[in-house]
Amino acid sequence: MGLKKKDLVLMGIILCIAAVCSLVHHFTGEAGKGIVAIKVDGVTEGTYVLTEDRRIEINHGTNILEIKNGEASMIEADCPDQICVHEKAISADGESIICLPNKIVVEVESDKESELDAVMK
Ligand SMILES: [Zn+2]
Repeated sequence: MGLKKKDLVLMGIILCIAAVCSLVHHFTGEAGKGIVAIKVDGVTEGTYVLTEDRRIEINHGTNILEIKNGEASMIEADCPDQICVHEKAISADGESIICLPNKIVVEVESDKESELDAVMK
């Protein structure tokens, strides 16, 4: 009897840990997704979550990035080619908008996921 009860308790604890782990994994997986990193001339100026709608002035206002509905797009730029403004909105991992004349790169990242990958490998 004693042993059986102990086993049950142990099983219960393991189940709880598993449940908490999957919850944490789920939560961090969600939170880690959809971060845009803004780089100017190779230097990261800032990172922003795609879950928060906002407008970001880049490089003292030469470019304006808008985050809306989980996507990021360049809505204004003073560059002559305007290629970045015509780029489609980005939201998936690894997608980017590049403004060559202003040396601006906006890229979607998910730090948490790549960290997990690194641990698993
Ligand atoms: Zn541009």
